Amino acid sequence: MSDCIFCKIAQHEIPSTVVYEDDLVIAFDDLNPQAPVHTLVIPKAHYDSIVDGVPGDVLAAMAHAIGEVARVKGLDAGFRVITNTGADAGQTVMHFHMHVLGGKMLGEGLI
Ligand code: 5GP
Ligand code: ZN
Repeated sequence: MSDCIFCKIAQHEIPSTVVYEDDLVIAFDDLNPQAPVHTLVIPKAHYDSIVDGVPGDVLAAMAHAIGEVARVKGLDAGFRVITNTGADAGQTVMHFHMHVLGGKMLGEGLI
């Protein structure tokens, strides 16, 4: 999608700090981190959100990438994965992404 910032990051048209990349997905550090580790995992192809018909192989690649982010970032003590979906969840970038948050005690609360 031509005006999508995450499509541009996926194509390396906009710089980002890449943590992991393969044919289907890319993981890069969030510009405005909410935790000591805050990395985004996105499919290279554009889907508006997790409920936009994302193929199973892409979802599997994202799960693999989350594991690689945790390994590279040393998140042995745990981490949280969040996928904001739609307006009520505060999704601001309409290209499906998963937040990987960690590097501190996040606690038991979800929100
Ligand atoms: P959302 O609110 O849609 O779930 O999350 C979007 C995330 O993308 C936010 O955490 C925001 O900081 C991040 N973000 C927005 N634009 C950019 C950018 O150009 N580069 C990077 N690395 N992160 C971005
Ligand atoms: Zn996009």
